[in-house]
Amino acid sequence: MEPLNSLYPVLAQDVNSPTHPVSAMDYLPKEKLRELQLHRLKWTVNYAYERVPLFRSRCQELGVKPEHIKTLSDIKLLPFSKKTDLRDEYPMGLRAATMDETVRFHCSSGTTGKPICIPNTLADISVWQNGAMRCLAMYGIRASDVLQVSYGYGLFTGGLGLHYGGEGLGCAVLPTSGGNTERQVMLMRDLGVTAIACTPSYFLRIIDEAKRQGIDFRKDTKLKHGIFGAEPWTTEMREAIERETGIIAHDIYGLTEIAGPGVAGSCQHSNGLHIWEDHFYPEIIDPDTLEPLPDGEQGELVFTTISRTGTPMIRYRTRDLTKLRVETCQCGRTMRVMDRICARSDDMLIIHGVNVFPGQIEAGLLRVPEVAPHYQILLSSTDDLDLFEIKVEITPEAFSDSVRHMENLRRRVFDAVKTIIGLSPRIILVEPGSLPRSEGKIRRVIDNRKKS
Ligand code: ADP
Ligand code: ZN
Repeated sequence: MEPLNSLYPVLAQDVNSPTHPVSAMDYLPKEKLRELQLHRLKWTVNYAYERVPLFRSRCQELGVKPEHIKTLSDIKLLPFSKKTDLRDEYPMGLRAATMDETVRFHCSSGTTGKPICIPNTLADISVWQNGAMRCLAMYGIRASDVLQVSYGYGLFTGGLGLHYGGEGLGCAVLPTSGGNTERQVMLMRDLGVTAIACTPSYFLRIIDEAKRQGIDFRKDTKLKHGIFGAEPWTTEMREAIERETGIIAHDIYGLTEIAGPGVAGSCQHSNGLHIWEDHFYPEIIDPDTLEPLPDGEQGELVFTTISRTGTPMIRYRTRDLTKLRVETCQCGRTMRVMDRICARSDDMLIIHGVNVFPGQIEAGLLRVPEVAPHYQILLSSTDDLDLFEIKVEITPEAFSDSVRHMENLRRRVFDAVKTIIGLSPRIILVEPGSLPRSEGKIRRVIDNRKKS
Protein backbone atom coordinates (compact mmCIF):
# COMPACT_ATOMS: atom_id res chain seq x y z
CA MET A 1 0.00 0.00 0.00
CA GLU A 2 1.19 3.55 -0.72
CA PRO A 3 2.17 5.36 2.49
CA LEU A 4 -0.19 8.10 3.62
CA ASN A 5 2.69 10.50 3.93
CA SER A 6 6.37 10.17 3.26
CA LEU A 7 7.84 12.10 6.12
CA TYR A 8 10.41 9.38 6.74
CA PRO A 9 10.67 7.94 3.25
CA VAL A 10 13.91 5.99 3.37
CA LEU A 11 14.18 4.65 6.85
CA ALA A 12 13.87 1.04 5.88
CA GLN A 13 17.18 1.22 3.99
CA ASP A 14 20.54 0.85 5.66
CA VAL A 15 20.90 4.28 7.16
CA ASN A 16 24.52 3.79 8.03
CA SER A 17 25.79 4.10 4.48
CA PRO A 18 27.23 6.83 2.27
CA THR A 19 24.22 6.59 -0.04
CA HIS A 20 21.67 7.25 2.66
CA PRO A 21 20.49 10.85 3.10
CA VAL A 22 20.97 10.75 6.89
CA SER A 23 24.56 9.54 6.79
CA ALA A 24 25.74 10.74 3.38
CA MET A 25 27.25 13.90 4.82
CA ASP A 26 29.49 11.83 7.13
CA TYR A 27 31.42 10.72 4.06
CA LEU A 28 31.67 14.02 2.18
CA PRO A 29 35.09 14.19 0.45
CA LYS A 30 37.48 16.32 2.49
CA GLU A 31 37.91 19.09 -0.12
CA LYS A 32 34.15 19.41 -0.46
CA LEU A 33 33.79 19.49 3.33
CA ARG A 34 36.36 22.28 3.66
CA GLU A 35 34.58 24.25 0.90
CA LEU A 36 31.27 23.86 2.67
CA GLN A 37 32.78 24.83 6.03
CA LEU A 38 34.32 27.97 4.58
CA HIS A 39 31.07 28.96 2.94
CA ARG A 40 29.13 28.45 6.17
CA LEU A 41 31.80 30.12 8.31
CA LYS A 42 31.72 33.26 6.16
CA TRP A 43 27.95 33.30 6.32
CA THR A 44 27.91 32.88 10.11
CA VAL A 45 30.52 35.57 10.71
CA ASN A 46 28.59 38.06 8.58
CA TYR A 47 25.35 37.15 10.28
CA ALA A 48 26.73 37.39 13.82
CA TYR A 49 28.53 40.65 13.00
CA GLU A 50 25.24 42.10 11.88
CA ARG A 51 23.10 40.78 14.70
CA VAL A 52 25.19 40.27 17.86
CA PRO A 53 26.52 43.55 19.29
CA LEU A 54 29.06 41.90 21.61
CA PHE A 55 30.62 39.97 18.71
CA ARG A 56 30.69 43.07 16.52
CA SER A 57 32.33 45.23 19.15
CA ARG A 58 34.95 42.56 19.93
CA CYS A 59 35.77 42.27 16.23
CA GLN A 60 36.06 46.05 16.02
CA GLU A 61 38.46 46.09 18.98
CA LEU A 62 40.62 43.59 17.11
CA GLY A 63 40.22 45.43 13.81
CA VAL A 64 38.65 42.37 12.17
CA LYS A 65 35.89 42.56 9.59
CA PRO A 66 33.83 39.67 8.17
CA GLU A 67 35.49 40.14 4.77
CA HIS A 68 38.86 39.28 6.36
CA ILE A 69 37.73 35.65 6.55
CA LYS A 70 39.04 34.28 3.28
CA THR A 71 40.22 30.82 4.32
CA LEU A 72 39.33 28.47 7.15
CA SER A 73 42.55 29.24 8.98
CA ASP A 74 41.50 32.92 9.11
CA ILE A 75 39.19 31.79 11.89
CA LYS A 76 42.13 32.49 14.19
CA LEU A 77 41.59 36.22 13.60
CA LEU A 78 38.22 36.07 15.34
CA PRO A 79 37.64 36.72 19.05
CA PHE A 80 36.93 33.81 21.40
CA SER A 81 33.73 33.46 23.37
CA LYS A 82 33.34 31.89 26.79
CA LYS A 83 30.73 30.74 29.25
CA THR A 84 31.22 33.96 31.22
CA ASP A 85 30.03 35.93 28.15
CA LEU A 86 26.78 34.01 28.25
CA ARG A 87 26.50 34.64 31.98
CA ASP A 88 27.36 38.32 31.69
CA GLU A 89 24.87 38.74 28.85
CA TYR A 90 22.25 36.53 30.56
CA PRO A 91 19.62 35.76 29.52
CA MET A 92 19.61 36.67 25.84
CA GLY A 93 22.45 39.04 25.04
CA LEU A 94 24.06 36.73 22.49
CA ARG A 95 20.83 35.92 20.70
CA ALA A 96 20.94 36.66 16.99
CA ALA A 97 17.42 35.58 16.09
CA THR A 98 14.34 37.70 16.70
CA MET A 99 11.65 36.45 19.07
CA ASP A 100 9.58 35.57 15.98
CA GLU A 101 12.35 33.29 14.79
CA THR A 102 13.01 31.78 18.22
CA VAL A 103 11.22 28.52 18.99
CA ARG A 104 12.88 27.15 22.11
CA PHE A 105 15.18 28.05 25.00
CA HIS A 106 17.59 25.64 26.58
CA CYS A 107 19.64 26.27 29.67
CA SER A 108 22.76 24.37 30.63
CA SER A 109 22.56 22.27 33.73
CA GLY A 110 24.85 24.66 35.53
CA THR A 111 27.34 22.01 36.62
CA THR A 112 29.92 24.73 36.96
CA GLY A 113 27.85 27.73 38.10
CA LYS A 114 24.88 29.92 37.19
CA PRO A 115 22.90 28.55 34.23
CA ILE A 116 23.17 30.03 30.78
CA CYS A 117 20.36 30.45 28.29
CA ILE A 118 20.50 29.52 24.60
CA PRO A 119 17.68 30.57 22.26
CA ASN A 120 17.18 28.17 19.34
CA THR A 121 15.43 28.67 16.01
CA LEU A 122 13.55 25.91 14.19
CA ALA A 123 16.55 25.54 11.89
CA ASP A 124 18.78 25.04 14.95
CA ILE A 125 16.53 22.30 16.25
CA SER A 126 16.77 20.52 12.92
CA VAL A 127 20.57 20.90 12.75
CA TRP A 128 20.76 19.44 16.24
CA GLN A 129 18.36 16.63 15.34
CA ASN A 130 20.50 15.91 12.29
CA GLY A 131 23.58 15.54 14.53
CA ALA A 132 21.76 13.25 16.95
CA MET A 133 20.31 11.14 14.11
CA ARG A 134 23.73 10.71 12.53
CA CYS A 135 25.16 9.57 15.87
CA LEU A 136 22.38 7.03 16.34
CA ALA A 137 22.73 5.78 12.76
CA MET A 138 26.49 5.44 13.29
CA TYR A 139 25.89 3.34 16.42
CA GLY A 140 23.81 0.96 14.31
CA ILE A 141 20.42 2.07 15.59
CA ARG A 142 17.55 1.70 13.13
CA ALA A 143 13.85 2.43 12.79
CA SER A 144 13.12 -0.99 14.29
CA ASP A 145 14.82 -0.08 17.57
CA VAL A 146 13.03 0.86 20.77
CA LEU A 147 14.90 3.78 22.33
CA GLN A 148 14.45 4.60 25.99
CA VAL A 149 15.49 8.18 26.69
CA SER A 150 16.42 8.37 30.35
CA TYR A 151 18.21 11.70 30.12
CA GLY A 152 16.30 14.47 31.85
CA TYR A 153 13.73 16.27 29.68
CA GLY A 154 13.35 20.01 30.01
CA LEU A 155 15.86 22.82 30.07
CA PHE A 156 18.69 20.29 29.98
CA THR A 157 19.35 19.29 26.37
CA GLY A 158 19.91 15.58 27.00
CA GLY A 159 16.32 14.33 26.89
CA LEU A 160 14.92 16.31 23.98
CA GLY A 161 18.13 15.93 21.96
CA LEU A 162 18.01 12.15 21.95
CA HIS A 163 14.23 12.20 21.65
CA TYR A 164 14.28 14.13 18.39
CA GLY A 165 17.23 12.08 17.14
CA GLY A 166 15.40 8.82 17.81
CA GLU A 167 12.13 9.97 16.29
CA GLY A 168 13.94 11.33 13.26
CA LEU A 169 15.32 7.87 12.59
CA GLY A 170 11.91 6.35 13.08
CA CYS A 171 12.74 4.55 16.33
CA ALA A 172 10.01 3.87 18.85
CA VAL A 173 10.97 6.35 21.55
CA LEU A 174 10.15 5.80 25.21
CA PRO A 175 10.52 9.19 26.91
CA THR A 176 11.04 8.08 30.50
CA SER A 177 13.30 11.03 31.41
CA GLY A 178 15.44 10.51 34.54
CA GLY A 179 14.27 9.09 37.86
CA ASN A 180 11.77 6.45 39.03
CA THR A 181 14.35 3.81 38.28
CA GLU A 182 12.19 0.90 39.33
CA ARG A 183 9.67 1.76 36.61
CA GLN A 184 12.45 2.43 34.07
CA VAL A 185 13.71 -1.12 34.47
CA MET A 186 10.21 -2.59 34.30
CA LEU A 187 9.41 -0.69 31.08
CA MET A 188 12.75 -1.60 29.57
CA ARG A 189 11.95 -5.27 29.94
CA ASP A 190 8.24 -5.11 29.13
CA LEU A 191 8.58 -2.97 25.98
CA GLY A 192 11.62 -4.78 24.64
CA VAL A 193 13.85 -1.70 24.76
CA THR A 194 16.89 -2.23 22.53
CA ALA A 195 18.73 1.07 23.20
CA ILE A 196 18.92 3.36 26.19
CA ALA A 197 20.27 6.91 26.37
CA CYS A 198 21.35 8.41 29.72
CA THR A 199 24.41 9.50 31.65
CA PRO A 200 26.82 6.63 32.26
CA SER A 201 26.41 7.20 35.99
CA TYR A 202 22.64 6.87 35.76
CA PHE A 203 23.06 3.65 33.84
CA LEU A 204 25.10 2.31 36.78
CA ARG A 205 22.09 3.08 38.95
CA ILE A 206 19.85 1.22 36.46
CA ILE A 207 22.20 -1.78 36.60
CA ASP A 208 21.83 -1.85 40.39
CA GLU A 209 18.06 -1.68 40.16
CA ALA A 210 17.93 -4.45 37.55
CA LYS A 211 19.98 -6.63 39.87
CA ARG A 212 17.63 -5.85 42.72
CA GLN A 213 14.69 -6.98 40.56
CA GLY A 214 16.58 -10.13 39.60
CA ILE A 215 16.78 -9.04 35.95
CA ASP A 216 19.67 -10.27 33.87
CA PHE A 217 20.35 -7.87 30.98
CA ARG A 218 21.53 -10.66 28.69
CA LYS A 219 18.64 -13.04 29.30
CA ASP A 220 15.69 -10.93 30.35
CA THR A 221 16.03 -7.80 28.21
CA LYS A 222 16.62 -6.98 24.54
CA LEU A 223 18.99 -4.15 25.35
CA LYS A 224 21.87 -3.92 22.87
CA HIS A 225 22.99 -0.29 22.88
CA GLY A 226 23.76 2.27 25.55
CA ILE A 227 24.14 5.88 24.43
CA PHE A 228 26.07 7.60 27.15
CA GLY A 229 27.37 11.11 27.57
CA ALA A 230 26.85 14.49 29.29
CA GLU A 231 29.66 13.75 31.73
CA PRO A 232 33.24 12.52 31.49
CA TRP A 233 33.65 8.73 31.55
CA THR A 234 36.69 6.66 30.83
CA THR A 235 37.38 3.77 28.46
CA GLU A 236 37.69 1.62 31.60
CA MET A 237 34.15 2.63 32.60
CA ARG A 238 32.90 1.77 29.11
CA GLU A 239 34.51 -1.66 29.35
CA ALA A 240 33.10 -2.24 32.84
CA ILE A 241 29.57 -1.44 31.63
CA GLU A 242 29.91 -3.65 28.55
CA ARG A 243 31.25 -6.56 30.62
CA GLU A 244 28.49 -6.28 33.15
CA THR A 245 25.56 -6.05 30.72
CA GLY A 246 26.68 -7.34 27.35
CA ILE A 247 25.56 -4.14 25.58
CA ILE A 248 27.69 -1.86 23.41
CA ALA A 249 28.34 1.42 25.22
CA HIS A 250 28.47 4.29 22.71
CA ASP A 251 29.69 7.77 23.50
CA ILE A 252 27.69 10.88 22.62
CA TYR A 253 29.05 14.36 23.15
CA GLY A 254 27.45 17.76 23.10
CA LEU A 255 26.87 20.94 25.01
CA THR A 256 23.95 23.32 25.32
CA GLU A 257 25.89 26.26 23.91
CA ILE A 258 26.67 24.43 20.66
CA ALA A 259 23.41 22.44 20.33
CA GLY A 260 23.14 19.55 22.79
CA PRO A 261 23.98 15.85 22.53
CA GLY A 262 24.84 14.92 18.94
CA VAL A 263 27.73 17.30 18.27
CA ALA A 264 29.97 14.21 18.11
CA GLY A 265 29.63 10.47 18.57
CA SER A 266 31.77 7.37 18.75
CA CYS A 267 32.14 4.83 15.96
CA GLN A 268 33.09 1.19 16.38
CA HIS A 269 36.39 1.61 14.58
CA SER A 270 38.09 4.00 16.94
CA ASN A 271 37.82 4.70 20.60
CA GLY A 272 37.09 8.31 19.69
CA LEU A 273 34.24 10.48 18.44
CA HIS A 274 33.47 11.82 14.97
CA ILE A 275 32.59 15.51 15.12
CA TRP A 276 29.85 16.62 12.71
CA GLU A 277 32.09 19.33 11.37
CA ASP A 278 29.71 20.41 8.65
CA HIS A 279 27.77 22.06 11.53
CA PHE A 280 30.27 22.41 14.37
CA TYR A 281 33.72 23.55 13.32
CA PRO A 282 36.34 22.37 15.83
CA GLU A 283 39.69 23.81 16.84
CA ILE A 284 42.12 22.83 19.56
CA ILE A 285 43.92 25.64 21.32
CA ASP A 286 46.56 25.93 23.97
CA PRO A 287 44.48 27.11 26.95
CA ASP A 288 47.32 29.30 28.21
CA THR A 289 48.55 31.01 25.05
CA LEU A 290 45.21 30.64 23.18
CA GLU A 291 47.18 29.71 20.05
CA PRO A 292 45.59 27.12 17.75
CA LEU A 293 47.30 23.72 17.95
CA PRO A 294 47.69 21.33 15.02
CA ASP A 295 45.68 18.11 14.83
CA GLY A 296 47.29 15.49 17.03
CA GLU A 297 48.05 17.85 19.90
CA GLN A 298 46.13 17.89 23.15
CA GLY A 299 44.45 21.11 24.27
CA GLU A 300 41.12 22.84 24.83
CA LEU A 301 38.32 22.13 22.39
CA VAL A 302 36.83 25.22 20.74
CA PHE A 303 33.72 25.21 18.53
CA THR A 304 32.28 27.57 15.98
CA THR A 305 28.71 26.75 14.99
CA ILE A 306 28.49 27.20 11.23
CA SER A 307 24.87 26.37 10.58
CA ARG A 308 23.03 27.73 13.60
CA THR A 309 21.05 30.94 13.66
CA GLY A 310 19.48 31.37 17.13
CA THR A 311 22.70 31.85 19.06
CA PRO A 312 25.64 31.44 16.70
CA MET A 313 28.70 30.70 18.82
CA ILE A 314 32.02 31.79 17.47
CA ARG A 315 35.23 30.21 18.76
CA TYR A 316 33.46 29.05 21.89
CA ARG A 317 35.87 27.72 24.50
CA THR A 318 34.34 24.51 25.86
CA ARG A 319 36.98 23.94 28.55
CA ASP A 320 36.89 20.28 27.52
CA LEU A 321 40.31 18.78 26.94
CA THR A 322 41.05 16.48 24.01
CA LYS A 323 42.88 16.23 20.72
CA LEU A 324 41.79 15.91 17.10
CA ARG A 325 43.28 12.85 15.48
CA VAL A 326 45.49 13.22 12.45
CA GLU A 327 44.65 9.86 10.90
CA THR A 328 41.41 9.24 9.01
CA CYS A 329 39.09 6.69 10.56
CA GLN A 330 38.84 3.23 9.06
CA CYS A 331 35.06 3.51 8.87
CA GLY A 332 35.50 5.89 5.92
CA ARG A 333 33.84 8.91 7.51
CA THR A 334 35.71 12.06 6.64
CA MET A 335 34.60 13.97 9.74
CA ARG A 336 37.50 14.37 12.13
CA VAL A 337 37.77 12.19 15.22
CA MET A 338 38.46 13.58 18.66
CA ASP A 339 39.66 11.53 21.61
CA ARG A 340 37.08 10.72 24.25
CA ILE A 341 36.70 13.62 26.64
CA CYS A 342 37.87 12.31 29.95
CA ALA A 343 38.42 15.70 31.52
CA ARG A 344 37.19 19.26 31.54
CA SER A 345 39.72 21.81 32.69
CA ASP A 346 37.37 22.93 35.51
CA ASP A 347 37.60 19.45 36.99
CA MET A 348 41.36 19.51 37.44
CA LEU A 349 42.34 19.00 41.05
CA ILE A 350 45.61 20.17 42.49
CA ILE A 351 46.53 17.71 45.19
CA HIS A 352 49.81 18.11 47.04
CA GLY A 353 50.92 20.33 44.18
CA VAL A 354 50.18 17.73 41.50
CA ASN A 355 47.55 18.18 38.77
CA VAL A 356 45.09 15.31 38.85
CA PHE A 357 41.94 14.64 36.82
CA PRO A 358 39.21 12.48 38.31
CA GLY A 359 39.25 10.40 35.11
CA GLN A 360 42.82 9.30 35.82
CA ILE A 361 41.72 8.03 39.19
CA GLU A 362 38.72 6.27 37.62
CA ALA A 363 40.98 4.59 35.07
CA GLY A 364 43.33 3.33 37.82
CA LEU A 365 40.53 2.04 40.03
CA LEU A 366 38.71 0.19 37.26
CA ARG A 367 41.83 -1.64 36.19
CA VAL A 368 41.38 -3.76 39.31
CA PRO A 369 38.74 -6.35 38.37
CA GLU A 370 37.25 -6.58 41.88
CA VAL A 371 36.45 -2.86 41.89
CA ALA A 372 32.85 -1.84 41.09
CA PRO A 373 32.40 1.39 39.07
CA HIS A 374 31.36 3.42 42.11
CA TYR A 375 33.81 5.66 43.89
CA GLN A 376 34.11 9.00 45.61
CA ILE A 377 37.12 11.29 45.88
CA LEU A 378 37.28 13.13 49.20
CA LEU A 379 39.57 16.06 49.82
CA SER A 380 39.81 17.86 53.11
CA SER A 381 42.44 19.73 55.03
CA THR A 382 43.76 19.85 58.54
CA ASP A 383 45.94 22.78 59.66
CA ASP A 384 48.61 22.44 57.04
CA LEU A 385 47.93 19.14 55.39
CA ASP A 386 45.63 18.12 52.56
CA LEU A 387 43.92 14.78 53.09
CA PHE A 388 43.25 12.77 49.98
CA GLU A 389 40.95 9.79 50.32
CA ILE A 390 39.16 7.57 47.84
CA LYS A 391 36.16 5.51 48.82
CA VAL A 392 35.70 2.58 46.48
CA GLU A 393 32.96 0.00 46.24
CA ILE A 394 34.03 -3.50 45.47
CA THR A 395 31.93 -6.16 43.78
CA PRO A 396 29.73 -8.36 45.97
CA GLU A 397 31.79 -11.39 44.89
CA ALA A 398 35.02 -9.77 46.07
CA PHE A 399 33.62 -8.49 49.36
CA SER A 400 34.78 -10.66 52.24
CA ASP A 401 35.14 -10.80 56.01
CA SER A 402 38.75 -11.83 55.71
CA VAL A 403 40.93 -8.94 56.86
CA ARG A 404 43.89 -10.29 54.94
CA HIS A 405 41.96 -10.57 51.71
CA MET A 406 40.60 -7.05 52.03
CA GLU A 407 43.99 -5.60 52.94
CA ASN A 408 45.54 -7.31 49.97
CA LEU A 409 42.85 -5.91 47.68
CA ARG A 410 43.20 -2.43 49.17
CA ARG A 411 46.91 -2.54 48.45
CA ARG A 412 46.29 -3.50 44.82
CA VAL A 413 43.80 -0.66 44.39
CA PHE A 414 46.30 1.74 45.93
CA ASP A 415 49.07 0.57 43.59
CA ALA A 416 46.80 0.88 40.53
CA VAL A 417 45.94 4.50 41.35
CA LYS A 418 49.45 5.45 42.42
CA THR A 419 50.92 4.13 39.17
CA ILE A 420 48.80 6.61 37.23
CA ILE A 421 48.79 9.73 39.38
CA GLY A 422 51.98 9.30 41.38
CA LEU A 423 50.23 10.26 44.63
CA SER A 424 49.37 8.10 47.64
CA PRO A 425 45.69 8.45 48.49
CA ARG A 426 44.14 6.68 51.44
CA ILE A 427 41.99 3.94 49.90
CA ILE A 428 38.85 2.99 51.79
CA LEU A 429 37.05 -0.11 50.49
CA VAL A 430 33.33 0.10 51.11
CA GLU A 431 30.43 -2.31 50.81
CA PRO A 432 28.61 -2.81 47.52
CA GLY A 433 25.74 -0.32 47.19
CA SER A 434 26.93 2.05 49.92
CA LEU A 435 28.01 5.09 47.85
CA PRO A 436 25.48 7.59 46.45
CA ARG A 437 24.01 6.97 42.99
CA SER A 438 22.90 9.61 40.51
CA GLU A 439 19.89 10.25 38.28
CA GLY A 440 21.69 12.75 36.06
CA LYS A 441 25.23 14.02 36.09
CA ILE A 442 27.11 12.59 39.02
CA ARG A 443 29.34 14.45 41.46
CA ARG A 444 32.15 12.18 42.51
CA VAL A 445 34.55 14.72 43.98
CA ILE A 446 33.92 16.25 47.37
CA ASP A 447 36.46 18.94 47.98
CA ASN A 448 36.23 20.38 51.48
CA ARG A 449 39.71 21.83 51.54
CA LYS A 450 40.20 25.30 52.88
CA LYS A 451 40.62 27.65 49.98
CA SER A 452 43.75 29.74 50.37
P1 ADP B 1 27.20 22.06 31.93
O1 ADP B 1 27.46 20.64 32.38
O2 ADP B 1 28.44 22.80 31.57
O3 ADP B 1 26.29 22.81 32.82
P2 ADP B 1 25.83 20.92 29.60
O4 ADP B 1 24.71 20.22 30.29
O5 ADP B 1 25.54 21.59 28.32
O6 ADP B 1 26.44 22.01 30.55
O7 ADP B 1 26.99 19.86 29.43
C1 ADP B 1 28.03 19.99 28.51
C2 ADP B 1 29.31 19.44 29.06
O8 ADP B 1 29.13 18.07 29.46
C3 ADP B 1 30.41 19.38 28.03
O9 ADP B 1 31.07 20.62 27.89
C4 ADP B 1 31.31 18.30 28.61
O10 ADP B 1 32.15 18.81 29.63
C5 ADP B 1 30.34 17.34 29.23
N1 ADP B 1 30.06 16.24 28.29
C6 ADP B 1 29.03 16.13 27.44
N2 ADP B 1 29.10 14.97 26.74
C7 ADP B 1 30.23 14.34 27.16
C8 ADP B 1 30.87 13.11 26.81
N3 ADP B 1 30.36 12.27 25.94
N4 ADP B 1 32.04 12.83 27.43
C9 ADP B 1 32.57 13.66 28.33
N5 ADP B 1 32.01 14.82 28.71
C10 ADP B 1 30.86 15.16 28.14
ZN1 ZN C 1 34.88 6.10 12.32
